Amino acid sequence: MKKIKVDYSAPATSAIVYQSIFLITMPIYLFYASPSWGIYLATFVLYCLTGVSIMAGYHRLYSHSSYSAHPILDIFFLFFGSMAMQGSAIRWAYDHRLHHAYVDTESDPHSIKHGFLYAHFLWLMETPRPIEKRVVRDHYERKLLVFQNEHITLCMVVTNLIAFLIIGLLLDDFLGALMLATLTRLFILHHSTWFINSLAHTWGTKPWRQELSATNNFIVALLTFGEGYHNYHHAFPKDYRNGICWFHFDPAKWFIWLLSKLGLAKNLRVVVENNKPIVKKG
Ligand SMILES: [Zn+2]
Ligand SMILES: [Zn+2]
Repeated sequence: MKKIKVDYSAPATSAIVYQSIFLITMPIYLFYASPSWGIYLATFVLYCLTGVSIMAGYHRLYSHSSYSAHPILDIFFLFFGSMAMQGSAIRWAYDHRLHHAYVDTESDPHSIKHGFLYAHFLWLMETPRPIEKRVVRDHYERKLLVFQNEHITLCMVVTNLIAFLIIGLLLDDFLGALMLATLTRLFILHHSTWFINSLAHTWGTKPWRQELSATNNFIVALLTFGEGYHNYHHAFPKDYRNGICWFHFDPAKWFIWLLSKLGLAKNLRVVVENNKPIVKKG
C-alpha cells in the first residue's frame, strides 16, 4: 500500500473527525433514545436526495456530460450535492475525469494499485491536487458551479444546517436530526460512494473490459443508486446508464429518464444497445 502523507488541513481529514464522533456516540444514542419513524423516513429521503445528486448530478452530468439538463437542475444538484459533503461539483468532476483518463496508473488520483484503503478514502487525506482548468474548462463558464466551488465549505455547512433545523423543528427531535438525518446519512453515503472506488475496483465481474480493474458489483449498485455497474461504466463513460438491462438496479438512470419525461433533461446518451456498442445521441 502507498505510504500516504496526511494533510491535516485537507477538508477530507475532517471526515475522520465526524466519523469518529459518530462511531463513538451512535451506540450510546441508540441505547438511550427511541427515534420516531419520522426521523428514519427523513434520513432515508435525505439520503436519496443527496445520493442522487452525487450520482446523477456530480457524476453522470458534471463529470461525463452524459445528458444535458435544465438550469433549474443545477440548483437542485448543487444544493443537495453540497449537503452530501463531497466537495464542489468542479472538484469532484476534476478528480473523476482524471480517474477515467488514468485508471490503474500512478496518475489516477485514487488508484486501486495503491491498495483498497487508499482507493476507499486514504487518498482524500492527502493534499488535493490543484485543479487544472483545462480538464474542467466547460464548468468555469457556469456561474453557479464556480460560486459553489469558491464557497464550498460555506455551502456544505449551510445546506446541512438548513436540513438539520427543518427536520429538528418539524419532528421536534434535534438529537435525532443530528445523529440520524445528519451523521448517519453522511457516514453511509460517504462509504457507499467510496466503495465505487475500492470495492467496484476489486471484486465483481468484468463483462466489458477485462484489462481494467473496474468491476460490475451488484452490492455497490444497491448502495449507490446504480453506480456498481462500474466495468460497463469504464468501458462507456458517456452512457447516461450504468446498468444497461431493464432489470439492472440503476435508480440514477431511472431518475434521469424521469427528468427527460418532465422536460428537465435531454440528449440522453446511449452507447450500447442489445449488448452491442452503437453510436447514438439523443
Ligand atoms: Zn472507477
Ligand atoms: Zn465516471
